[in-house]
Amino acid sequence: MQPDMQFEDTIAAIATAHGEGGIGIIRISGQEAANIARAVFQGPGGKKTPALRSHSVVYGYVVDPVSPSGERIDEALMIYMAAPRSFTREDVVELHCHGGTVALERVLDAVVSAGARVAEPGEFTKRAFLSGRIDLSQAEAALDIIRARTEAAERLALRQLEGALSLKVGHIRDRLIETCAHIEAHLDFPEEDIEPEASDKILASIREAELVTRALAESFSEGRLYRDGVRTAIVGRPNVGKSSLLNLLLEQDRAIVTSAPGTTRDVIEETLNIKGLPVVVMDTAGIRESHDMAESEGVRRSLKALQEADLVLAVFDTSCPLHPEDHMVLEKIQGKNSIIALNKSDLAIDPDEGKGADEKVFKDLRTVKVSAKKSHGLENLKQAIHDAALRGTHGRGGGGQAEGIIITNKRHKEALVKTHKALGNALARLEEKAPLEVPALELREALDSLGEIVGKVSTDEILDRIFSEFCIGK
Ligand code: GDP
Repeated sequence: MQPDMQFEDTIAAIATAHGEGGIGIIRISGQEAANIARAVFQGPGGKKTPALRSHSVVYGYVVDPVSPSGERIDEALMIYMAAPRSFTREDVVELHCHGGTVALERVLDAVVSAGARVAEPGEFTKRAFLSGRIDLSQAEAALDIIRARTEAAERLALRQLEGALSLKVGHIRDRLIETCAHIEAHLDFPEEDIEPEASDKILASIREAELVTRALAESFSEGRLYRDGVRTAIVGRPNVGKSSLLNLLLEQDRAIVTSAPGTTRDVIEETLNIKGLPVVVMDTAGIRESHDMAESEGVRRSLKALQEADLVLAVFDTSCPLHPEDHMVLEKIQGKNSIIALNKSDLAIDPDEGKGADEKVFKDLRTVKVSAKKSHGLENLKQAIHDAALRGTHGRGGGGQAEGIIITNKRHKEALVKTHKALGNALARLEEKAPLEVPALELREALDSLGEIVGKVSTDEILDRIFSEFCIGK
């Protein structure tokens, strides 16, 4: 992976989303980008593009390079970014065309006939990584920005793209490399003992790295929620107001959801944006159909949702005494992280019934009084959902050691756990005064695992997996 590596092919793709849009952008990257721009782009008077000036915008037309008359395909703006001042560090050309699928496909065809090849998913970002412009965790952050469902999630991804995690990992790596070198130097002179002072320093720096990697790994319990959403099940017997409550929340807080490839599920989910946290309400179709569904089917679906849930929102009707089914619901949610919505708080208790729900059964649970009908108590409910979802996570950045960095990527978490484990082993071996080769090996392993995060140590398999998740054009 040399910073100056060159790819033979010049790649091109439609970089904007499919469908109609005000503008659509074709991105071209590689050694031939400038020549291709000359072949497919003309100034307004039909002049061939003059000498290309980097980082300036030119107005003109995209033309078909194989048509003898130079048929115009679209009116466009062209931007040329000379290497290395571009996303991929290669020559890059962007053609800003009208955003319609047919026009963009034709422009892409023209670019391909002029010598480009259609890019694979994520190939631009992969080139940015392979050219050393960004590291692997930053490349992954670029994908997370595209996929972010709430502003808070986007901010986390942006911090990572800006290199917060890379810096932190780089810092730990540097110190460990130093420590490793220190120990390995002694391997060459086994007859000399490490001086006590040096030995203390080695232990201290490994301990520090161990603490930081653990804090970073633990921050994933929170980061995962920002990235993937808090999987939430709404449960309750029929008629307590589940769909009324869900509809109300959706009206106020429906999150923008981008579809991620490969995640088609057999249940319909909705995503809410609750104070920046994406809250994924599972099986919303089940909630809405519960009146008509065969009862056993309804129960089966809500139990499944319960099992998969990070959080349960259990709804009860407090205007009347609890039903046996309500008690069943209470039983099922035992041990789950749950919020109890005491719904229909607007209703006076029916004087004939004489009483409402006996709320003593909820006494050890987190309850919020709401009225879906009058939209009362919603702010409290949202706060309770937010707080309950984050409860049990380790708070911002694992309690200070990680300096507010929150890991959102499972691959990073796994690498950190491996690193942390190897560091723990190295410490134990050092403390029991094992021959230095042994802790040295553990430290090497820790370094390798840490390097996987930023891509200092990576295999084609890892790279293929990561970049295949991107859309084409990114
Ligand atoms: P689900 O079966 O649990 O999804 O319940 P629904 O949302 O379909 O509500 C059942 C009935 O209760 C409907 O007639 C709603 O209008 C009514 N309802 C829901 N929430 C409230 C509330 O807070 N107050 C009152 N008075 N009625 C409600």
